[in-house]
Amino acid sequence: MTATDAHIALVDLGGTQIRVAISDAEGNFITRVAHSTPPEGGQATIDAVKRAIRQAIGEGGRSVASIAIVAPGPLDPRKGIVIHAPNVPKWRNIPLSAILREEFSVPVLLGNDASLAALGEQWYGAGQGHHDLIYLTVSTGIGGGVISDDVLLIGAHGYAAELGHNSVWADGPRCNCGNRGCVETLASGPAIARQAREAIRAGRPSLLTEMAGGDLEAIDSRLVAEAARRGDTVAANTFKRAGYFLGVAITNFLYAFDPTVVVLGGGVTKAGPLLFDPVTATVQSRAPRAYWEHCEIVPAALGEDVGLRGALALYLSGAGLS
Ligand SMILES: [Zn+2]
Repeated sequence: MTATDAHIALVDLGGTQIRVAISDAEGNFITRVAHSTPPEGGQATIDAVKRAIRQAIGEGGRSVASIAIVAPGPLDPRKGIVIHAPNVPKWRNIPLSAILREEFSVPVLLGNDASLAALGEQWYGAGQGHHDLIYLTVSTGIGGGVISDDVLLIGAHGYAAELGHNSVWADGPRCNCGNRGCVETLASGPAIARQAREAIRAGRPSLLTEMAGGDLEAIDSRLVAEAARRGDTVAANTFKRAGYFLGVAITNFLYAFDPTVVVLGGGVTKAGPLLFDPVTATVQSRAPRAYWEHCEIVPAALGEDVGLRGALALYLSGAGLS
């Protein structure tokens, strides 16, 4: 069977869902399956991945020539090992590619979720036509992917492009990676919620207190965005500050990689101009014009299929991983 007539099992292993699609080589999804990710992690998650793939292959009624899987990192795509998956308990140094290869007797490709989102957006989404692309997902954390001259950056151990841990405030809040002032601690969803809470606790009046039913812990970034749209100053300033720090980080990335597009995905980017406006203003006020005048900063286009599309692009690009 050649690559062009092969069917491929695409797997997106997320912290809450395991999604599998059987695709033909043109990228048509023939079958889709979704299961909850077992909260206990460990072997249960490995078994659930196997089960979901088996079910999808069964429903598709076709054998597959390959499996391409997207998993949270850090991971080593060349060795096919998930080193640590933040949202999957008891996953340390899991040889996922070897496990699935043994189970299904086909080649297995493995990639990091944010890196493959970059590839997915380049092939099928907002980055089409670009050869130098930065992708950032701004959600519970901040993940990143870098494509430079059509090459997805992996690094010596698979650790490259952890853009969320770019420090934009040397003495800023401690990050769970050990560093300080990582952009993830200042512009992710939980960071936005935390900073809004801190402003309210410092005595600033805000609609958020009432919108959260008096329980400040119920504030999340979606609620902060809603309050900002209603004209709340604390909420608007919180987004401005998050956008500022994200813009500082993106300025650093422009200097490092000179991309022609920066694609921003993840739940927090649904805030739209509340986030994009201060990001763009910050980049344009800090980076030389030559870096940003031919570089767009745009929302991601693929939505929840970004992982599956990234897995497909990994397979089709023959990135030679694992
Ligand atoms: Zn960090």
